[in-house]
Amino acid sequence: MTLFRSASAMTAAGSRLDGPTLQVLPVAVAANIRRVQARTDARIMAVVKADGYGHGAVTVARAAVAAGAEQLGVTDIAEGSALRAAGLTVPILAWLHPSGIDAARAAADRIDVAVGSIDELRQLIVDAGPLGDPGIRVHLGVDTGMARGGCPSEQWDDFFRLARAGHGLGRIEVVAIMGHLPLADHADPVHNAAAVSRMNAARAAARAAGFGRLLVHLAATSGALTDRATHFGLVRIGAGLVGIDPSGTVALSGASRLTAPIVHTSLAPKGTPVGYGGIHVTDRETHLSVIGLGYADGIPRGLSANAAVEIGGRRHRIVGRVSMDQIVIDTGAEAFPHGTIATVFGPDGGAVPSIHEWADWAATIPHTIVTGIGPRVKRSIA
Ligand SMILES: *Cc1c(COP(=O)(O)O)cnc(C)c1O
Repeated sequence: MTLFRSASAMTAAGSRLDGPTLQVLPVAVAANIRRVQARTDARIMAVVKADGYGHGAVTVARAAVAAGAEQLGVTDIAEGSALRAAGLTVPILAWLHPSGIDAARAAADRIDVAVGSIDELRQLIVDAGPLGDPGIRVHLGVDTGMARGGCPSEQWDDFFRLARAGHGLGRIEVVAIMGHLPLADHADPVHNAAAVSRMNAARAAARAAGFGRLLVHLAATSGALTDRATHFGLVRIGAGLVGIDPSGTVALSGASRLTAPIVHTSLAPKGTPVGYGGIHVTDRETHLSVIGLGYADGIPRGLSANAAVEIGGRRHRIVGRVSMDQIVIDTGAEAFPHGTIATVFGPDGGAVPSIHEWADWAATIPHTIVTGIGPRVKRSIA
């Protein structure tokens, strides 16, 4: 990682500057997969929704599959189709279908679908009718305590019976039962226990409806890292791929580094108001540098006074309001020339802020920091 730190000191020698860049680190994704593997015997589904948590779905998916993930998970079928188009061949599951399941698309691109209600299941069995053997692969979604989707337990008997009938007709191929843990953001085996027992009850109901052994999955990153009882046959890892452990118990590797060149530097006298509203006034003569990243690029507008970037191996505070396209950095006695690279966040440690620190400064979670990086920021792959 130290290799990349030297980027801080680099300036573009006479040529045009590269703009703000999010450098994605597939090596970190692979390392994070290995850390999950060390804690489970279950198979791993790499969840790459929201463009791979802002890191590029295809990049993250390729790295995860190469490191041993056996399946991919996305929110909708279109995201799955994009992965197929990029050449990924492992099973892909899509779990949210706001305008109904596009059965033809799912069949054409071999996207497995999660189905979480009797109505949705009935419609899918009708729509899958003309598609022929072996039908669309289905994961039956059950509510394990979140009331955010998944068939409620009162309806399980009918749900599984209908699924069994559709399966028997060859219109759908039921391959799994899935739930979701309501406590995705901290480690709590005691509270997970209720969801685990519902998952077991759902499995029993499926068996009673005539299904043989089905794959069962419940846990996301937090459960996978902290509670073996939640693992069943497969764990679904999203945040963990890009270095976020929602349970706060395991040090994972940040999988991206956001950098931007200084576009302007000036020496400001004491008493200079900075930015919109002049909410910050310099308390001494100081150097101010501007980088071309603002709230339109994902820099949160509400930041604590600690928010900072790394330049030249040191941390320098962001001062004044975050603008749409720019932020101002107070570098004190140090004057950094135009083109000097600032590191906004990265996995490097030391003076380079982490996405977790950014989340603290913005009173949010690191997920929103990485998924918020805007489209103007160039992506590169390390
Ligand atoms: C997003 C999501 C995951 C991944 O959760 P992480 O906490 O990011 O690992 C797993 N399962 C479902 C259904 C999800 O929506």
